Amino acid sequence: MRVQAQVTPEVRKCLLLSRMEAETLKERDILCPICGFRIQRVYSDAVGHLSVKCQKCKNVHILNLAYFRKIRQNGWSRTGRW
Ligand SMILES: [Zn+2]
Repeated sequence: MRVQAQVTPEVRKCLLLSRMEAETLKERDILCPICGFRIQRVYSDAVGHLSVKCQKCKNVHILNLAYFRKIRQNGWSRTGRW
């Protein structure tokens, strides 16, 4: 059995700050381009690339968050066509 690691006050503060900041941001789901399964939840200020593994189809995807933001806003096909 794993003992839970000690969280330093600095880490605790960062966690609290992150949580408070996120309250003003919008959440959005990152869906698997293959099967549509929700693989990650990010906030509206998230940028850059994300490496995620789909729990459903087991594919590992490298996703550019900027592309996926556009797909959602433009209402492109849900199949994740580029
Ligand atoms: Zn998948």
